[in-house]
Amino acid sequence: MTADLFPTYRGHMEYFCLGCGKRFPTDELHYTCPECGGVFLLDNLLFDDLKKRSGKQWREIFDSRAASKKTALRGIFRFYELMAPVLEEEDIVYLGEGNTPVIESSPGLNQTTGMTTAYKNDGQNPSASFKDRGMACGFSYLRSLIRQNAWDQILTVCASTGDTSAAAALYASYVGGAIKSVVILPHGKVTPAQLAQPLGSGAVVLEVPGVFDDCMKVVEHLADNYRVALLNSKNAWRILGQESYAFECAQWFDWDMKNKCIFVPIGNAGNITAIMAGFLKLYELEIIADLPRIFGVQSHHADPVYRYYAVDDPKERQYEPVTVAASVAQAAMIGNPVSFPRVKYFAEKFEAIGGEDSFQVLQVTEQQIMDSMIQANMHGHIACTQGGESFAGAKRALELGLVTPEELCILDSTAHQLKFVDFQNMYFDNSFPPEFEITPDMTLANTPELVISPEEKSALSPEEYTRTTANKVVAKLGLEKK
Ligand SMILES: *Cc1c(COP(=O)(O)O)cnc(C)c1O
Ligand SMILES: [Zn+2]
Repeated sequence: MTADLFPTYRGHMEYFCLGCGKRFPTDELHYTCPECGGVFLLDNLLFDDLKKRSGKQWREIFDSRAASKKTALRGIFRFYELMAPVLEEEDIVYLGEGNTPVIESSPGLNQTTGMTTAYKNDGQNPSASFKDRGMACGFSYLRSLIRQNAWDQILTVCASTGDTSAAAALYASYVGGAIKSVVILPHGKVTPAQLAQPLGSGAVVLEVPGVFDDCMKVVEHLADNYRVALLNSKNAWRILGQESYAFECAQWFDWDMKNKCIFVPIGNAGNITAIMAGFLKLYELEIIADLPRIFGVQSHHADPVYRYYAVDDPKERQYEPVTVAASVAQAAMIGNPVSFPRVKYFAEKFEAIGGEDSFQVLQVTEQQIMDSMIQANMHGHIACTQGGESFAGAKRALELGLVTPEELCILDSTAHQLKFVDFQNMYFDNSFPPEFEITPDMTLANTPELVISPEEKSALSPEEYTRTTANKVVAKLGLEKK
């Protein structure tokens, strides 16, 4: 089989409700269970057919596809059979998502922390966050529905902490045609870059006072009562696309996940769900021999999943939403994660195979998140605040003796540093509002210095200006003549 042929295998997918267990065909767009309102997973009833190939054969197929020149196989659909093998080639939307690199930390950084870390830079996706993985799958499915039903209009809607709307608006504007995009944001709670993104993509941007959880309620009311395609992470197609993170991670390390730990920030808990689900599929098909260990990380200002798992005895655990406080990990500042039932479902499966310590959730402070992001980026990474949270989580795990220095800690930087520069600026200017509870380490503060004033400049001829300025730079840097 050559890598440039589109796969011929087709699965049979169904929505499977985690609330009531009922199943529904995927020829209809469902956001949540029409019977009980529970969240769905997508289940391929013909998954076992994939076992006719050995793990080795699958590894070879996926490796050969890495060189494919076929657009539909260049991104997350390289792993077509594991993802949404009901889509046709013409349905697949590819905007360059996936294939994000894993960058080993510098020896300097590893020496400082006493562990070995690496960042998987999901900020190197087209809209600069991992959300593109889920949107690529979600919009591909929408395209198949539009094609099959000959729809002439469909409104896509999402509530967002910033990155979901940026991704949704990007994919919607590319697909165009029947698709119109609306995003609902918490007023004043997304960064300027994240607001600029859906505006630049031409989406209708609506703002409401409050936090993400408020936007979510509005959007769900719309979905319950009107015909719209909701693209929040309750949408099971998005979770499916996000599984590609796990597939890529395994492929990057030549399918060897032994002694590897993955640190993932948790907001609505869709990403960590998808990562666990993805690794479980690889394990079931014997594509990998060992599961990695997965660590969810939450800020002390938004930690409902941490609180749940902090209770040792599973029978004593009780899920309760929390009221969030200000968080620099703004994209994960969520008090009532919609994918919590999915986390529980996959965590149980994960622990049944990988043992009790194969899935854990850690809590870190806002201070640790910011310090970690600044530290990582000063060593050549491009971590966002949530990436700082992953790193802080790894340090916390080492401190608690949960990881050994021999294990490789893979940190998920879920977005690009540039989306969250405002927090970097607050750190360097020491201007965090008190509710963040962050005191910057001013030895790390980095601010631009004006070398020469505009007044001085205007008094000088062009030649004098160049020479004077150069001399000032020389004096500042203490340069010696060669
Ligand atoms: C959405 C998002 C998160 C949180 O992911 P969940 O799937 O909601 O847990 C973390 N970081 C960034 C940058 C995000 O955009
Ligand atoms: Zn149900």
